[in-house]
Amino acid sequence: MRQQLFFNPTMRDIPQGADVPSHQLMLRAGLIRQTASGIYTFLPLGLKVLRNIERIIQEEMEKAGAQELLMPAIQPAELWEESGRLKDYGPELMRLKDRHDRDFVLGPTHEEVITSLVRDHITTYKKLPITLYQIQTKYRDERRPRFGVLRSREFIMKDAYSFDTDRSGLDTNYERMYEAYQNIFTRCGLDFRAVEADAGAIGGKGGTHEFMVLSQIGEDTIAFSDTSQYAANVEIAAVLDTYEKAVPPAASLEVIDTPQMKTIDDLTAGLNLEKASLLKSVLFIADEEPVLVVCRGDHEVNDIKVGNALDAREVRLAEPDEVQDIMGTEAGFVGPVGAPSQVKILVDAAVKTISSGICGANEKDKHYQNVHPGRDFPITEYGDYRIVQEGDPSPDGQGKIRFAEGIEVGHVFKLGTKYSEALGAVYLDENGRSQPMVMGCYGIGVSRLLAAVIEQHHDENGITWPGSVAPFDVHLLVLNPKQDDQHELGEQLYTRLQDNGYAVLYDDRKERAGVKFNDSDLIGLPVRITCGKKAGDGIVEVKRRRDGKMEEVHVNELFSYLETLRK
Ligand code: ATP
Ligand code: MG
Repeated sequence: MRQQLFFNPTMRDIPQGADVPSHQLMLRAGLIRQTASGIYTFLPLGLKVLRNIERIIQEEMEKAGAQELLMPAIQPAELWEESGRLKDYGPELMRLKDRHDRDFVLGPTHEEVITSLVRDHITTYKKLPITLYQIQTKYRDERRPRFGVLRSREFIMKDAYSFDTDRSGLDTNYERMYEAYQNIFTRCGLDFRAVEADAGAIGGKGGTHEFMVLSQIGEDTIAFSDTSQYAANVEIAAVLDTYEKAVPPAASLEVIDTPQMKTIDDLTAGLNLEKASLLKSVLFIADEEPVLVVCRGDHEVNDIKVGNALDAREVRLAEPDEVQDIMGTEAGFVGPVGAPSQVKILVDAAVKTISSGICGANEKDKHYQNVHPGRDFPITEYGDYRIVQEGDPSPDGQGKIRFAEGIEVGHVFKLGTKYSEALGAVYLDENGRSQPMVMGCYGIGVSRLLAAVIEQHHDENGITWPGSVAPFDVHLLVLNPKQDDQHELGEQLYTRLQDNGYAVLYDDRKERAGVKFNDSDLIGLPVRITCGKKAGDGIVEVKRRRDGKMEEVHVNELFSYLETLRK
């Protein structure tokens, strides 16, 4: 590609509103432009990278036995009615009507469409298992689109769906996809971790993993062991219960005045106590039922664990007026002692360690002191309801928990029969009995992945593409095209490099050398070849972008030298 006419608007300065390196560099190097909030155009340079990533994904999917198809972005709302998600999905689902006033949605994902398709065309075990995938545009009206294509409202996803006759078939397919994902992210040059994730009510244990690209700007936190392979999303990372039950104090329960002391910080300051000796009580509404969760003052309640323990579809914090109605006081003064009988109480295991604690007295400006769990309020069972913290023992018993930030680029999930049952995707087994198909789904955020590659591959001057996804292999620069020897050598190399299978971006522009070098660093192709002053002697300068390794090379040796650079 000759750069003179290449549609590649670059920018020198950091664009306003772009807060993370990948977003800044994608704008500056001319990979994308914003069309509307959270909606982007891929420019030619960006599209080339996207296509390279897609090709890697396609190769690995085919290797894993998946077949590519392409489903529509527009989906009839009735399908979403059938699966029950039209209501559940909420405002992220973009809805529209056609001229006949019929309801449609812009697909945020394709379980409904694929399940109805397979339902209509596969009826016997003889045609199973099957895995189908597509690379397609998705729509999610995100509350906070940000960081460019990392969280956008229109984005490209690879989504695959497996259909099996039974659970063990699903396990096999899941393994196969998991491996394919490892290959894909490795080939894209990424430092990533597969972590256990929240499967909600349907997945079951070990039923879902997220693939996280390690990066400080990641929105997810990974909890991992400092000695073993254990890694999980902090949302679900279990806390190993190694607590000993404290002995009760001699003193009995007593009400104390705690005016305006509504938070753990207020109490520790006001009463001069350690956080770990306080009981923190938080009221949730789980599928319409009030649940009071009690943990230690130095811990945080994990609502996902609460939801999973109760097998609840939805868990949310109670609103202030609900707290008032249910507990008879405001949030800062609620507690398990004397709580109304219709309120379910869940107590985190660490609360065991409290001998003589403080908790809300369910009355404004009052707390109880000398509270002993089990003595002063009943506990049937302690559970794991808190967020894991750094320094906690790893749940596999090996080492301590550390945290790292990650960008979720992929997600594999054992769906089971949720959608096949809702939409009637059944098959006849060997005995002629009708059975629901057992499904898995597997997503990769393709456009997000592109940004994640840049997050891990850039320096202060620009992008440093891994060769596998780079938009071109070589950046060929002619410093002064008015000099005949430079121009001629440039033209000659442009042809020869392409004849030898290299994708070349050829800077034939009439710009100053400094501009060319800056743009070249910004765009970040793996190798730069410069025809400059020594062109007359057949000598070019070759620079490897990744580490700045630079050498003068005679054109006769150029191709063998380029081979050595690949290593
Ligand atoms: P997140 O927690 O980041 O919102 P998700 O759990 O909603 O992700 P999935 O429904 O599992 O995501 O979608 C599969 C993949 O699609 C994700 O792993 C992610 O890489 C990508 N993805 C999801 N939402 C977006 C978005 N708004 N913009 C770009 N990519 C996205
Ligand atoms: Mg999401």
